[in-house]
Amino acid sequence: PSTSSESFLAGLNPAQLKAVQHPPEVPVQILAGPGSGKTKVLTSRIAHLILTHSISPSSICAVTFTNKAANEMRERLIKLIGKQRTTEMKMGTFHSLCALFLRKYGTLAGLEGNFTICDADECKKTISTILKTHKAFLEEKNISLKEGTVLSMISKAKAKGQSATDYSSELQSKSRDAKKAKATAVTPNDIEYLVAQVYEDYERTLRRNNSLDFDDLLLYGVKLFRKHKHTVAWCKHVLVDEFQDTNITQYELMSALALNRCVTVVGDPDQSIYGWRSAEVENLAKMRKDFCGTEQIFLEQNYRSTASILRTSLAVVAQDKARIQKTLHTAHPIGTTPVLRSLPTEYAEAAFIAVEIKRLVAHMGGVLRWGDFGVLLRFNALSRAIESALQREGIPSRVLGGHKFFERLEIKNLLAYLQLIDNTNFDPALVRAANVPSRGIGEKTLLEIAARAEKTKVSQLTVIEGICDGRLPDIKPTAKRKLVPFVKTVRALRDLANQGTSPANLIRRLIDLVDFESHLRKTQPDWESRWENVQELITFASEFDTDIPYAEPSTEENSDTTTAKDTPLRLFLQASMLSSEGDNQSEEDSKEKVTISTCHAAKGLEWPVVIIPAVEQGTFPFYRSEDIEEERRLLYVACTRAQGLLYLSHVEKRKVAGDTKSKELSEFISVITKQNPTLFTSWQPDLSPVDRRVISTVLNRPNPDESEVSRRIAEFDRVMRNHVMNYHQPPAPQALSHPVVAHPGADINFIPSRN
Ligand code: ATP
Ligand code: MG
Repeated sequence: PSTSSESFLAGLNPAQLKAVQHPPEVPVQILAGPGSGKTKVLTSRIAHLILTHSISPSSICAVTFTNKAANEMRERLIKLIGKQRTTEMKMGTFHSLCALFLRKYGTLAGLEGNFTICDADECKKTISTILKTHKAFLEEKNISLKEGTVLSMISKAKAKGQSATDYSSELQSKSRDAKKAKATAVTPNDIEYLVAQVYEDYERTLRRNNSLDFDDLLLYGVKLFRKHKHTVAWCKHVLVDEFQDTNITQYELMSALALNRCVTVVGDPDQSIYGWRSAEVENLAKMRKDFCGTEQIFLEQNYRSTASILRTSLAVVAQDKARIQKTLHTAHPIGTTPVLRSLPTEYAEAAFIAVEIKRLVAHMGGVLRWGDFGVLLRFNALSRAIESALQREGIPSRVLGGHKFFERLEIKNLLAYLQLIDNTNFDPALVRAANVPSRGIGEKTLLEIAARAEKTKVSQLTVIEGICDGRLPDIKPTAKRKLVPFVKTVRALRDLANQGTSPANLIRRLIDLVDFESHLRKTQPDWESRWENVQELITFASEFDTDIPYAEPSTEENSDTTTAKDTPLRLFLQASMLSSEGDNQSEEDSKEKVTISTCHAAKGLEWPVVIIPAVEQGTFPFYRSEDIEEERRLLYVACTRAQGLLYLSHVEKRKVAGDTKSKELSEFISVITKQNPTLFTSWQPDLSPVDRRVISTVLNRPNPDESEVSRRIAEFDRVMRNHVMNYHQPPAPQALSHPVVAHPGADINFIPSRN
């Protein structure tokens, strides 16, 4: 092991080495700018702890911000310490770690082990049902309140660790203060009082359904770890990536896990972009107070980007006056100046992006492939025009963090059945599954059943089963007749599950039982692609046939708990609820596709070429954002994802919610270009051989073969000569299936004339 330990230390610079070799028992913060190797250091430090300090992998806890980041770290670690040791580690997001331990020790935190994790959609539905019960109040006070607003207020309270009771008592004390101090203090308003009520009802509903929302996972996790210290006794070292984006509850979790004070966190205050989700940059200072003796290590060398990309990115963030100015330099050559491109409309912008991607692939002689391009957007809705332009040009793309696989209707409908057989108390699953496929079970019937369940304090499924078996008072015969086939299906599946049928086979059986294919065919115009998704779900489920991913060290400490059994079905359901897009796509697959992502979801990632469209006032900074500096940092995060080439674009006119609006260049850019016009170039028709070599160097790839470059450029020019898109209009529907031909109306040639 010592040789492999030396070999991975060899490539590190002195500051990185210091961070990796920092004594395990001294808490440490590694603070540094983008691309300085923070994540690399974190991974190497884990390997070092295991190989040099002989800390057992199963007692190391590594927390990342997304599942994708966790997977990447897993892959890097497998290379350093092997698969066996990597799987023994506790690695994941705060949410997945909490889910893991709540399954095991949930009873200690007052939960049943077979709890269901609710996604945002189900939470919203629950809130909407509760809001209906407060209709009179809403009308009286003339308040219109969206469930999303209520949910985010509740979520903010939970991020601060406030329970429903805490929330109420805070309101009461606020109101007392207001009465005392009169003019100065703010009186809580009607909305807050209502939210306090809804919060209580919401919690009660979740508990009755034996379910947790995402915030609850963290809150219950903290509760468990704080009260029952033996549940964290395994933990010898905690490491947290992207620490600047943790909220109060996540901080609490970290410190509950780090009983022995062995903590390593890495972060960059300049990249804090989750203030809107209650992240607290102050956690860095808080940690230094709570863990006295915490040391700080700074890294100053960027390994990711060319010097010109770094220079332009730093100019963006330097405008934040409150920021502590820091040094960040790169050993990479200057490279191609970032491009700032203005276009007439969003269709022109999309066409420009598509053609530019093709052009760069040609001009780099094939050294770049589709997977090397990242298109980073301020918000998801901007992707539509770009997606279709890429499609028109035959460029494959994927949307990261967009419409999540597990949020798709057909997937949720199938999962509802499985959730119901895993946790019969989970009423939302029953409501969803009851009419899939349509069985004519009416809303009235469902409401009546819900009311009965509420009254007798049992689950809705218990009521329905009771009615069908004749144990409970009857409902209308026509209604009852419709319930019978549903109950039959659920029972058949439950029997199969009890016999140990694998999740994949349960889904296969379910599809047969309800004839899901013809249900899709009848109800969905795009049923074929949905059917594909169903097949994909089965593939994903088949990973849970035998293996249990987390190997818990077997200790006696859990003898005092009735441990819920981790059935493959339960693990599968949990993974689906915690999964994010991108996880279910293989890395191989993503290499062949242009990535379209929000800037938020791009955190921690890198691409050889990054394109940021819609850098406009109102869009970036987004007009609804409350914190302009956070918007600026977000643009900084986006720019610093680029390794070799960076493009920003903006348009003169953009359609927003159906209306065409004039647009101006983002103030983030106009300010810095006024001060220094050399930060951007408007466009450059050709990459020079030097440009090409710089890009290859940064990417650590061989230089392109110049004769291959000439061949590809000639081919590109030949194809493009007759290929001018009408970029003032949205693509006509048939344009998707036919090649686009020359359009006489095109008056701006965004394809270079080369001679
Ligand atoms: P971010 O703030 O964006 O998350 P980061 O600080 O975590 O960035 P990494 O992702 O760890 O940075 O590293 C950025 C790139 O630089 C990676 O491709 C990494 O492999 C490379 N890199 C880091 N350190 C070195 C080094 N010492 N030698 C060579 N390459 C390095
Ligand atoms: Mg990182």
